[in-house]
Amino acid sequence: MTVINPIEEAEALADKLSGLDLADRLSLVAGLGGRVVFTTSLGIEDQVITAEIGTHRLPIDVVTLQTGRLFPETLALIDETESQYDIHIARYEPEQADIDAYATKYGMNGFYESVEARHACCGVRKLKPLARALAGATIWITGLRRGQSANRAETPFAEYDAERHLLKVNPLADWDIDKIKAFVADNGVPVNPLHARGYPSIGCEPCTRAIKPGEPERAGRWWWEQDEKRECGLHVAEEAASIVAQQ
Ligand code: SF4
Repeated sequence: MTVINPIEEAEALADKLSGLDLADRLSLVAGLGGRVVFTTSLGIEDQVITAEIGTHRLPIDVVTLQTGRLFPETLALIDETESQYDIHIARYEPEQADIDAYATKYGMNGFYESVEARHACCGVRKLKPLARALAGATIWITGLRRGQSANRAETPFAEYDAERHLLKVNPLADWDIDKIKAFVADNGVPVNPLHARGYPSIGCEPCTRAIKPGEPERAGRWWWEQDEKRECGLHVAEEAASIVAQQ
């Protein structure tokens, strides 16, 4: 019996994906079998993927992490996107008991006080719901792009996520923001109005600000932190494990 090494499997898939357009990348992945999950933050990249899933009726579960701290514009966009593409976007929310425990320990907005407190909040509101969203999934699709930050400059088309035991596929890894915007304009894809107000990257309302001209795309996320690797843990496997372990 041939034992398939998941890392080699991911590398082979990445090679196949590199030569395809976006719709074919998603079709190929959807056809691999098992539960395929796309996690959307409703950001402009994710809207491009959702548009392709909806337009081509691909068998991919579209889910979002409804953290309870999202912008009203983001919440409205969830509904608008479902309506435009006749799809369901499953909302995964934090447990109230976890939110209460966080508030007791750190305060509801304690994430401004320390990196530890911020990671704990992301753990409660994002990582634990993400774990539920990905339960039983064999493939996880994301909208990560190499151009989003120095931290994401090496993003592959496919990689093995050893923490979650699944293949992680990043079909927009080689797209730049101009290509994203052109796709949106050409295809009438609904996007968050905050993008036009200086928010290229949109997360939770208290943790996202508009950026200044020339700043990196993700400079408005957790702007009060100095660490160059400001992430919520969703896409940093080792960090995710440690954050979840803190909860
Ligand atoms: S982005 Fe901010 S509000 Fe949202 S989960 Fe993380 S720390 Fe909490």
